[in-house]
Amino acid sequence: MRTTFAAVHQVKDASPTVKIISLAPEEKISFKAGQWIYIFADKGGEKIKRAYSVASHPDEPELRLCVKRVENGFMSNFLCDMTPGRRLEISQPFGTFILDEPGKDIIFIATGTGIAPFMSMLPELAMRRYGGHVTVIFGARTRDEVLYEKEINKMTASINLSFVPVLSREEWAGEKGHVQDAVKKYAKPGGEAYICGLVQMVTEVRQLLEGMGLDRKRIHFENYI
Ligand SMILES: Cc1cc2nc3c(=O)[nH]c(=O)nc-3n(C[C@H](O)[C@H](O)[C@H](O)COP(=O)(O)OP(=O)(O)OC[C@H]3O[C@@H](n4cnc5c(N)ncnc54)[C@H](O)[C@@H]3O)c2cc1C
Repeated sequence: MRTTFAAVHQVKDASPTVKIISLAPEEKISFKAGQWIYIFADKGGEKIKRAYSVASHPDEPELRLCVKRVENGFMSNFLCDMTPGRRLEISQPFGTFILDEPGKDIIFIATGTGIAPFMSMLPELAMRRYGGHVTVIFGARTRDEVLYEKEINKMTASINLSFVPVLSREEWAGEKGHVQDAVKKYAKPGGEAYICGLVQMVTEVRQLLEGMGLDRKRIHFENYI
């Protein structure tokens, strides 16, 4: 596996448990919107690695990651506690969760940091002057866990885009329940669907979309194992 190093440029809060980590790679990393990289770390003398989706557009000089602190998790806490100036070993990009057939309406479905690859794909669609409609369904428990709201709403200036946060544990004026509830309301057969997040949600949404008549080949997904 090819690896290189990147300096930590900035670590910002995105929610109480999620950080956006900006990296300045020492050599250019060419990747496609939606792909992920490995981050390496030393855990008590053992070299470990974990996968993280790139949450920035391929043309940007900076590479951004969107990382959730996992209780008792080593790498996620190591990354969330990073300070600017530290150096990280990173891999080449991997993954086939990339934009396909962007001639149809698209629905992006994510929970938590599963939104990360969409923060690379949305600017890519804007760059391509994509003409179809894009719906982003984002599941969170509470309002303060909704990620990238400002950034996504800003993109409505360049893409025909609807952002639909769905809250499962807080009363509010928007959609309530789980992403599955919003999928039933917003997904239409004939479009392209991209799902990203933990396995159980991804599996349930895939089954739901297939049941609603979406072509299995048009349902793309990434599991955060
Ligand atoms: C292709 C791919 C892309 C990914 N992209 C991202 C990303 O952009 N952002 C991101 O935050 N994560 C992402 N992940 C998950 C990431 O790779 C790690 O698994 C996660 O950060 C936990 O690593 P850790 O070393 O902290 O925890 P570990 O030490 O590996 O695990 C500690 C414990 O927490 C459990 N656990 C692991 N992950 C989670 C979780 N997400 N929620 C609840 N419990 C968990 C484990 O089962 C274990 O019991 C991605 C995974 C894959 C496969």
